[in-house]
Amino acid sequence: MTPEFFRHVAREAAPFTERIYTHLMGEPLLHPEFSELISICGETGVDAAVTTNGTLLDKEREAALLSGVVSQVNFSLHGIEELGSQTDSEFHLEKILRFVETSMKENPELYINLRFWNLDKDGMIPSAKRWMMEAVAQRLAIDESIISNITQPSRKIRGRLYLNFEKRFDWPRETSTVRTTGFCHALSDQCGILVDGTVVPCCLDNNGTMPLGNVKDQSLETILSSSRSVTIRNGFAKGELVEDTCRRCSFCEKFNVKAAKIIASKKKISR
Ligand code: SF4
Repeated sequence: MTPEFFRHVAREAAPFTERIYTHLMGEPLLHPEFSELISICGETGVDAAVTTNGTLLDKEREAALLSGVVSQVNFSLHGIEELGSQTDSEFHLEKILRFVETSMKENPELYINLRFWNLDKDGMIPSAKRWMMEAVAQRLAIDESIISNITQPSRKIRGRLYLNFEKRFDWPRETSTVRTTGFCHALSDQCGILVDGTVVPCCLDNNGTMPLGNVKDQSLETILSSSRSVTIRNGFAKGELVEDTCRRCSFCEKFNVKAAKIIASKKKISR
């Protein structure tokens, strides 16, 4: 996405949100004009949030992340292990931890989440992946009990530094289990805009399987009021997954308790 088009997208989005997440599946630090995109968010009056594996951190990108426009950086620590050997991972982890230390000194207002979204089905860090968590705990002087007994998805470490824990989820695909009930915040709290301007409900739809319109042709307001958008949004409000992609999505299982409440209250009303 060119900076010019990003400016258009940011202006369209600004009336609807206080924060733009600069990724939709991809790695935002790969963008050659990353710093300019962050400045455009600032010009437009919205915060930026960046989710990254941190492997491309360098002076210029770090300056953009610390510029005050970015309010939150999420480091996907579960992602860097898949990119190479343990030695490579240790190298990348060190860069991230140095950035964390710098940020806490220079911009303590910045929220930083260190994400371990690779818990197994029992909610534990798999033993082969434990070394990274232990390295983080040692370096940041985190109490061992926090990692040996994961009781909540987010733990504050100090200031605005958090550890996040989630079970691994699969991207929706043909072979995924299909269900028709569920809940998701898409189109109430978030939507995605692909590199070509196609608007989609969420950041899992990187292939544009649920195209709602294109900001090159229509305003975002018109797109979010379209019949397909409204049907999807109203479906979630009733605990129903309308789109085939949503029916195959395991990410929204996070909201199963909310979905169950909605469905139970519908049953009560219809009695
Ligand atoms: S249910 Fe899944 S695929 Fe559907 S909008 Fe939500 S996150 Fe996206």
